[in-house]
Amino acid sequence: MAKKKPIAIIVHGGAGPDSDHIHENRKGYEQGLQAAVDAGYEKLEKGGNAVDAVEAAVKTLEDNPLFNAGRGSALNANGEVEMDAAIMRGSDQSSGAVALIRNIRNPISLAKAVMLNTKYRFLGDMGALEYAKKIDIRMEPSSYFITEHQFDAFSKKREEEFTSSDRIGKEQLNARMHGTVGAVALDRDGLLAAATSTGGTENKKMGRIGDSCIIGVGCYAKNQTCAISGTGDGELLIKNIIAYDISALMEYKGMSLQQACEEVVLKRTNPDEGDVGVIGVDKEGNIALVFNSERMHRAWKTSGRSHGFRIYKDK
Ligand code: ASP
Repeated sequence: MAKKKPIAIIVHGGAGPDSDHIHENRKGYEQGLQAAVDAGYEKLEKGGNAVDAVEAAVKTLEDNPLFNAGRGSALNANGEVEMDAAIMRGSDQSSGAVALIRNIRNPISLAKAVMLNTKYRFLGDMGALEYAKKIDIRMEPSSYFITEHQFDAFSKKREEEFTSSDRIGKEQLNARMHGTVGAVALDRDGLLAAATSTGGTENKKMGRIGDSCIIGVGCYAKNQTCAISGTGDGELLIKNIIAYDISALMEYKGMSLQQACEEVVLKRTNPDEGDVGVIGVDKEGNIALVFNSERMHRAWKTSGRSHGFRIYKDK
């Protein structure tokens, strides 16, 4: 009997510093990661494709208020939600991305619609919203996205800025809330896909766009090499073109997925400049979960029977 081809899915829920909020909600985070990985794996197991699997996984995290994507997104400096998302298919490098999105319940589904149903690769702001209305994608009122935790974090930052003796240029003060979500998957046909979705960094300037929706930075997939979803300080990921660099090291230098992720995240990125984390899968179903931060929320499930979740380095 022919051996069954491998399938695998990994999800992340952001890399960054530890916090009391994470400790207090640890169970909820673990359940959320598990639910996401299960949603994606179920699709793969039933013969679904990797694009649908990463979308399904990311949607559950966007709907989960604990994560900084969809509901629960970080608030910008004006106290508003602006979300970014991207998805990519590894067979032909098709991709779809959206930025500065408001009121869309699942930005990842809008990114997927851009990929599959338009001639464009990237839609932003009002144009993306206009397109979403046309295709009847699910919308929610602004209040749906704003959780108590994010509003408290916003109010605290506001207060800090207001009482700071040096207020000028402080709009990015302590922008350290990283709960961005992402997924990468390999399906039975050898298709790799990646998806990333975020509310961005907290207290970001209105109009700021991070790495998550930039193909080759926070999201990349190529069947011959790997699928990668990134998280961390967006400006640093952009500087180092993280996801494509990992793929390029595999393609041009023959590195393994693990070696390439470690090279880019742990060797070529200066940890003093910020946090970076990546999840990756290659065409054989090998997985990598590499980060330079205190923690990266993550979970994985493969047909090789590897299954688990972690928040910190080894727990
Ligand atoms: N990379 C995201 C951004 O900069 C934030 C995160 O990963 O949590 O928008």
